[in-house]
Amino acid sequence: MTADRMSRSARLRWTTASELLRLVHAEPGITRTAACERLSLASGAATELIERLRGARLLAEHRAERGGRGRPTTVLGAHPRGPLAAVVDLRAAGWRVLLGGLDGVLTETAAGSYGDREPAGFLPEVAGAVAAAVRREPGRVGAVVAAVAGAVSGTRLLQFSTRGWHEADLGVLGSGAGVPLLVGNDATLGGIAEARGGAARGARAALHLLVAVGIGGALLVDGRPVIGARGAGGEYGHLPLGDPDLACPCGARGCWDLMVDGRALARHRGDPAPADPFAYGRDVLDAVRSGTAPARDRRAVERTARALGAGIAGLVNLHDPDAVTIAGLAPDLRAAAPDAFADAYRGGLMAFHRADPPPVADAARGADGPVQGALALGVDEITGPAALARWGG
Ligand SMILES: [Zn+2]
Repeated sequence: MTADRMSRSARLRWTTASELLRLVHAEPGITRTAACERLSLASGAATELIERLRGARLLAEHRAERGGRGRPTTVLGAHPRGPLAAVVDLRAAGWRVLLGGLDGVLTETAAGSYGDREPAGFLPEVAGAVAAAVRREPGRVGAVVAAVAGAVSGTRLLQFSTRGWHEADLGVLGSGAGVPLLVGNDATLGGIAEARGGAARGARAALHLLVAVGIGGALLVDGRPVIGARGAGGEYGHLPLGDPDLACPCGARGCWDLMVDGRALARHRGDPAPADPFAYGRDVLDAVRSGTAPARDRRAVERTARALGAGIAGLVNLHDPDAVTIAGLAPDLRAAAPDAFADAYRGGLMAFHRADPPPVADAARGADGPVQGALALGVDEITGPAALARWGG
């Protein structure tokens, strides 16, 4: 009982600190005055708290540039020796390990390729790189977060279709670090980055969609993804919005996945299935956007853009988001056939959405969205009251 009460009082002692540190991460360059206003902190309490966090190597304070009138203030930022999260990026093209903290800056510490190996073959090498990154910054790394370009549940990989991998345990990635391991799908993590600090910032319900090989995404409510009972939700690409005669590698038929990416463009152009659908799609879209492509290619792009726009309209009817963000190949696909996309999007909306449809914005974080989202989850972990109590005593 005593231990519980102590941990509860320690938690309470760090609750406001946790809110302040998360605000400093969410709004880089925030002034002390603005942060205190946002948290309704009285000046005496703020002085005590900020002194305590500076002393605990959790926060730094710099003089603000004098801009306009008003009392001089300071800017709050990450402490140069503050807590960090390690991010493991498992993309189709290869892996990398990065370190980042409250300032949102990620530094790559290691990278490599998979070769012909299955996960069991290369995961120990990646885990070794994570452990090396943790040793490089003794005592500072409080979480490991893996961003995975595949379907995941808990710390298990379910399917990584671009490589043909099936189930694998990713738990080994955190085993040498001795800190909590979190695993997220890349589209879900990209959505977190957009909802918290990107193009969907401030949205109550944000829909994020990533076209790479197929399409994945997430619905985010107040910046948190709705991921289902086992964490495997958001597989929008496997809704039956496609051709019912086409079999999808996932095991289902008629998946939307097959209609919106490089595989769709190849079918419409009469090409065989491309070995690298992402690169193939990027090349076709570049040619169409530069105006050098033949009419056949423009029609292929228009059909694909229509399939994307119509499907997004269906998801808007389903979820009623107030913001939609698109990433990966989707912004280029829309830009290559803007009228076809807009026509299909509008035409697929229920009438009551048409007066004020949610804007579809290009993602602000680009290709780094998934690792930025992973860092945001890592910062949630290292700024939790319990983690701060362990760090600051
Ligand atoms: Zn499928």
